[in-house]
Amino acid sequence: ATPTALMVGTGRGAQLGILIKGPEVLESTRRVDTVVLDKTGTVTTGRMTLLDVVAAEGEDADRVLALAGALEDSSEHPIAQAIAKGAAAKVGAPQAVEGFANIEGLGVQGVVDGHAVVVGRARLLADWSQELDAELVRAMRDAEAEGKTAVAVGWDGKARGVLVVADAVKPSSAQAISQLRALGLTPIMLTGDNKAAAAAIAAQVGIDEVIAEVLPKDKVDTVERLQAEGKVVAMVGDGVNDAAALAQADLGLAMGTGTDVAIEASDLTLVRGDLRAAVDAIRLSRRTLGTIK
Ligand code: ADP
Ligand code: MG
Repeated sequence: ATPTALMVGTGRGAQLGILIKGPEVLESTRRVDTVVLDKTGTVTTGRMTLLDVVAAEGEDADRVLALAGALEDSSEHPIAQAIAKGAAAKVGAPQAVEGFANIEGLGVQGVVDGHAVVVGRARLLADWSQELDAELVRAMRDAEAEGKTAVAVGWDGKARGVLVVADAVKPSSAQAISQLRALGLTPIMLTGDNKAAAAAIAAQVGIDEVIAEVLPKDKVDTVERLQAEGKVVAMVGDGVNDAAALAQADLGLAMGTGTDVAIEASDLTLVRGDLRAAVDAIRLSRRTLGTIK
């Protein structure tokens, strides 16, 4: 295509709510055959709410929520914000936290009211030798089977409860996925969340292939692996944890509603955070550069 055609394409993109880093981006857009989609904040709204607090035998649910809420008040993660907000509404202002640490893709830890508190995946609690009893394991499993996200709360060597949060699939996601398929592209969901929750959300929007429980640092390896298999990969994401994968992909698409880090790492920004704009971008590049298929 001529430089002029590319410039026109870029301008048309802006009208469609797609910000394109440079005219050459449309070239890689056209060749894409696989679209890797982050779950939280990309396929779903990312606005989570706290739905349930389950206390272990002999534990007090409000206490579980208060200590978890205090800790999560220091984190920007959508799960953290849901928990902090739920705690503030139910048990009041958060207590002070010392030694707060965020463990990427796993959870958070810190000292609250004299207790070393951990909130996150069961795997993180296991690192602290805090095993979940059968009742907590069941609570997590039941929530996850419904596409919700469950995190465990523990302190002083014991898992004390489970918090259930959920967000909603964006109304436009299912349509966008079927349009991507109609263009001959294969959608794959890539998420740090657990397998059951990821599968439930994927089923709601029509994605068959799910890669779950992937740590943020391993998202980029997944993209590389697909590329090594000969796929030309577009990655759509919104989070800090997606940035490396967005940069590695043949085409990185950031949700305009996402973090600055994700936007900076990407070639394209979908201003309104609507996945259908990814479809528009691919159609636009094919139209601008002449269709292959
Ligand atoms: P995604 O890829 O869906 O955006 P992340 O990689 O950010 O997910 O997180 C993966 C998992 O790690 C979450 O589903 C949750 O179980 C756990 N996790 C991450 N951050 C937190 C936090 N602040 N509080 C509790 N759990 C967390
Ligand atoms: Mg995300």
